[in-house]
Amino acid sequence: MEIKVVRDVLKANDSIAEENRRLLRSHGLRSLNLISSPGAGKTSLIEATIGQLPELRLGVIEGDIATTRDAERVATLGIPVVQITTRGACHLDASMVRSALTELPLSALDLVIIENVGNLVCPTSYDLGEDAKVVVISVPEGADKPIKYPEIIRRARLMVVNKLDLAPHCDCDLDAMERDARSIQPKLTSLRLSCRTGQGLEAWVEWLEEFRQG
Ligand code: MG
Ligand code: ZN
Repeated sequence: MEIKVVRDVLKANDSIAEENRRLLRSHGLRSLNLISSPGAGKTSLIEATIGQLPELRLGVIEGDIATTRDAERVATLGIPVVQITTRGACHLDASMVRSALTELPLSALDLVIIENVGNLVCPTSYDLGEDAKVVVISVPEGADKPIKYPEIIRRARLMVVNKLDLAPHCDCDLDAMERDARSIQPKLTSLRLSCRTGQGLEAWVEWLEEFRQG
Protein backbone atom coordinates (compact mmCIF):
# COMPACT_ATOMS: atom_id res chain seq x y z
CA MET A 1 0.00 0.00 0.00
CA GLU A 2 2.76 2.39 0.96
CA ILE A 3 4.61 1.59 -2.24
CA LYS A 4 1.53 2.34 -4.29
CA VAL A 5 1.20 5.82 -2.75
CA VAL A 6 4.81 6.65 -3.55
CA ARG A 7 4.34 5.47 -7.12
CA ASP A 8 1.24 7.60 -7.56
CA VAL A 9 3.06 10.67 -6.32
CA LEU A 10 5.90 10.09 -8.76
CA LYS A 11 3.45 9.43 -11.60
CA ALA A 12 1.67 12.74 -10.96
CA ASN A 13 5.05 14.43 -10.77
CA ASP A 14 6.12 12.93 -14.10
CA SER A 15 3.12 14.25 -15.99
CA ILE A 16 3.75 17.80 -14.69
CA ALA A 17 7.43 17.37 -15.57
CA GLU A 18 6.37 16.52 -19.13
CA GLU A 19 4.35 19.76 -19.25
CA ASN A 20 7.40 21.69 -18.06
CA ARG A 21 9.52 20.00 -20.70
CA ARG A 22 7.05 20.89 -23.45
CA LEU A 23 6.90 24.50 -22.23
CA LEU A 24 10.68 24.83 -22.22
CA ARG A 25 10.94 23.25 -25.68
CA SER A 26 8.26 25.54 -27.06
CA HIS A 27 10.62 28.41 -26.21
CA GLY A 28 13.60 26.59 -27.71
CA LEU A 29 15.14 26.35 -24.25
CA ARG A 30 17.52 23.75 -22.86
CA SER A 31 17.57 23.07 -19.14
CA LEU A 32 19.76 21.51 -16.47
CA ASN A 33 18.95 20.17 -13.01
CA LEU A 34 21.96 20.61 -10.67
CA ILE A 35 22.06 18.04 -7.88
CA SER A 36 24.62 17.73 -5.06
CA SER A 37 24.95 17.43 -1.32
CA PRO A 38 24.81 20.74 0.60
CA GLY A 39 27.85 22.92 0.09
CA ALA A 40 29.37 21.16 -2.93
CA GLY A 41 29.24 24.36 -4.99
CA LYS A 42 26.09 24.38 -7.13
CA THR A 43 25.54 28.12 -6.73
CA SER A 44 29.26 28.74 -7.23
CA LEU A 45 29.09 26.81 -10.50
CA ILE A 46 26.19 29.01 -11.64
CA GLU A 47 28.14 32.15 -10.68
CA ALA A 48 31.22 30.87 -12.50
CA THR A 49 29.12 30.11 -15.58
CA ILE A 50 27.79 33.66 -15.65
CA GLY A 51 31.37 34.94 -15.32
CA GLN A 52 32.61 32.74 -18.18
CA LEU A 53 29.65 33.30 -20.51
CA PRO A 54 28.47 36.90 -20.11
CA GLU A 55 26.54 36.69 -23.42
CA LEU A 56 24.53 33.64 -22.34
CA ARG A 57 20.92 34.53 -21.60
CA LEU A 58 20.58 32.39 -18.50
CA GLY A 59 17.56 31.97 -16.24
CA VAL A 60 17.95 30.35 -12.83
CA ILE A 61 15.60 28.60 -10.43
CA GLU A 62 16.98 28.22 -6.91
CA GLY A 63 15.64 25.54 -4.58
CA ASP A 64 16.33 25.79 -0.86
CA ILE A 65 14.67 24.69 2.36
CA ALA A 66 15.07 28.20 3.79
CA THR A 67 16.36 31.67 2.87
CA THR A 68 16.73 33.46 -0.47
CA ARG A 69 20.51 33.70 -0.15
CA ASP A 70 21.42 31.76 -3.27
CA ALA A 71 18.89 33.68 -5.37
CA GLU A 72 20.37 36.94 -4.07
CA ARG A 73 23.85 35.83 -5.15
CA VAL A 74 22.58 35.15 -8.67
CA ALA A 75 20.39 38.27 -8.86
CA THR A 76 23.41 40.42 -7.97
CA LEU A 77 24.93 39.30 -11.27
CA GLY A 78 21.94 40.61 -13.23
CA ILE A 79 20.45 37.20 -14.04
CA PRO A 80 16.70 36.52 -13.83
CA VAL A 81 16.20 34.18 -10.88
CA VAL A 82 13.30 32.69 -8.94
CA GLN A 83 13.73 31.26 -5.47
CA ILE A 84 11.64 28.27 -4.46
CA THR A 85 11.61 27.97 -0.67
CA THR A 86 10.45 24.44 0.09
CA ARG A 87 9.80 25.00 3.83
CA GLY A 88 11.33 21.73 4.84
CA ALA A 89 10.95 19.60 1.74
CA CYS A 90 14.32 18.11 0.85
CA HIS A 91 13.86 18.16 -2.95
CA LEU A 92 12.17 20.11 -5.71
CA ASP A 93 9.23 18.61 -7.55
CA ALA A 94 7.81 19.38 -10.96
CA SER A 95 4.88 21.45 -9.69
CA MET A 96 7.21 23.79 -7.79
CA VAL A 97 9.21 24.25 -10.98
CA ARG A 98 6.04 24.80 -13.01
CA SER A 99 5.17 27.76 -10.75
CA ALA A 100 8.70 29.12 -10.93
CA LEU A 101 8.74 28.95 -14.73
CA THR A 102 5.79 31.35 -14.90
CA GLU A 103 8.04 33.94 -13.21
CA LEU A 104 10.90 33.71 -15.73
CA PRO A 105 11.04 35.59 -19.08
CA LEU A 106 11.29 32.33 -21.03
CA SER A 107 11.23 33.83 -24.52
CA ALA A 108 14.25 36.01 -23.64
CA LEU A 109 16.42 33.10 -22.44
CA ASP A 110 18.83 30.53 -23.94
CA LEU A 111 19.23 28.19 -20.98
CA VAL A 112 17.53 27.47 -17.65
CA ILE A 113 19.52 26.07 -14.74
CA ILE A 114 17.56 24.62 -11.84
CA GLU A 115 19.56 24.35 -8.63
CA ASN A 116 17.97 21.62 -6.57
CA VAL A 117 17.91 21.44 -2.76
CA GLY A 118 21.26 20.17 -1.47
CA ASN A 119 20.65 16.42 -1.17
CA LEU A 120 21.98 13.46 -3.16
CA VAL A 121 19.03 11.18 -2.45
CA CYS A 122 15.44 12.17 -3.32
CA PRO A 123 16.11 14.95 -5.89
CA THR A 124 17.29 12.02 -8.02
CA SER A 125 13.76 10.54 -8.20
CA TYR A 126 11.89 13.69 -9.21
CA ASP A 127 11.89 14.60 -12.87
CA LEU A 128 11.46 18.38 -13.09
CA GLY A 129 11.18 18.52 -16.87
CA GLU A 130 14.88 19.21 -17.37
CA ASP A 131 16.89 17.95 -20.33
CA ALA A 132 19.73 16.66 -18.17
CA LYS A 133 20.86 16.21 -14.59
CA VAL A 134 24.33 17.35 -13.57
CA VAL A 135 25.73 15.97 -10.32
CA VAL A 136 28.28 18.08 -8.46
CA ILE A 137 30.60 16.37 -5.98
CA SER A 138 33.26 18.33 -4.13
CA VAL A 139 36.71 16.99 -3.31
CA PRO A 140 36.43 17.29 0.52
CA GLU A 141 33.35 15.04 0.49
CA GLY A 142 35.59 12.08 -0.30
CA ALA A 143 36.02 9.63 -3.14
CA ASP A 144 33.26 7.28 -2.02
CA LYS A 145 30.33 9.56 -2.93
CA PRO A 146 29.59 7.97 -6.33
CA ILE A 147 29.62 4.40 -5.04
CA LYS A 148 27.45 5.35 -2.03
CA TYR A 149 24.91 7.29 -4.11
CA PRO A 150 24.79 5.24 -7.30
CA GLU A 151 21.33 6.34 -8.45
CA ILE A 152 22.29 9.95 -9.13
CA ILE A 153 25.44 8.75 -10.91
CA ARG A 154 23.30 6.44 -13.06
CA ARG A 155 20.95 9.28 -14.03
CA ALA A 156 23.43 12.14 -14.46
CA ARG A 157 24.59 13.35 -17.88
CA LEU A 158 27.70 14.86 -16.31
CA MET A 159 29.66 14.64 -13.05
CA VAL A 160 31.40 17.84 -11.96
CA VAL A 161 34.13 17.39 -9.35
CA ASN A 162 34.43 20.80 -7.70
CA LYS A 163 36.91 22.34 -5.21
CA LEU A 164 39.88 20.87 -7.06
CA ASP A 165 42.01 23.57 -5.37
CA LEU A 166 41.52 21.67 -2.08
CA ALA A 167 42.81 18.36 -3.46
CA PRO A 168 46.33 18.79 -1.95
CA HIS A 169 44.73 19.08 1.51
CA CYS A 170 42.33 16.14 1.19
CA ASP A 171 42.87 12.41 1.00
CA CYS A 172 40.52 12.07 -1.92
CA ASP A 173 41.56 9.67 -4.67
CA LEU A 174 40.00 11.37 -7.70
CA ASP A 175 40.93 8.55 -10.06
CA ALA A 176 39.17 6.06 -7.77
CA MET A 177 36.14 8.36 -7.56
CA GLU A 178 35.86 8.50 -11.34
CA ARG A 179 36.53 4.77 -11.70
CA ASP A 180 33.67 4.03 -9.30
CA ALA A 181 31.39 6.42 -11.15
CA ARG A 182 32.16 4.70 -14.45
CA SER A 183 31.51 1.30 -12.90
CA ILE A 184 27.94 2.58 -12.50
CA GLN A 185 27.69 4.50 -15.77
CA PRO A 186 30.55 3.58 -18.15
CA LYS A 187 30.21 6.60 -20.45
CA LEU A 188 29.75 9.26 -17.77
CA THR A 189 31.76 12.40 -18.46
CA SER A 190 33.58 13.80 -15.44
CA LEU A 191 35.06 17.29 -15.20
CA ARG A 192 37.48 18.30 -12.45
CA LEU A 193 37.37 21.99 -11.70
CA SER A 194 37.50 24.72 -9.11
CA CYS A 195 34.85 27.42 -9.16
CA ARG A 196 37.03 29.31 -6.68
CA THR A 197 40.21 29.49 -8.76
CA GLY A 198 38.70 29.01 -12.21
CA GLN A 199 40.82 25.94 -12.91
CA GLY A 200 39.07 23.60 -15.35
CA LEU A 201 36.19 25.94 -16.11
CA GLU A 202 36.98 26.01 -19.84
CA ALA A 203 36.01 22.31 -20.11
CA TRP A 204 32.71 23.06 -18.36
CA VAL A 205 32.01 25.93 -20.75
CA GLU A 206 32.82 23.66 -23.69
CA TRP A 207 30.50 20.94 -22.36
CA LEU A 208 27.75 23.51 -21.83
CA GLU A 209 28.09 24.90 -25.37
CA GLU A 210 27.88 21.38 -26.78
CA PHE A 211 24.89 20.58 -24.60
CA ARG A 212 23.11 23.71 -25.83
CA GLN A 213 23.64 22.74 -29.48
CA GLY A 214 22.47 19.17 -28.89
MG1 MG B 1 23.34 26.75 -3.40
ZN1 ZN C 1 13.27 14.94 -0.56
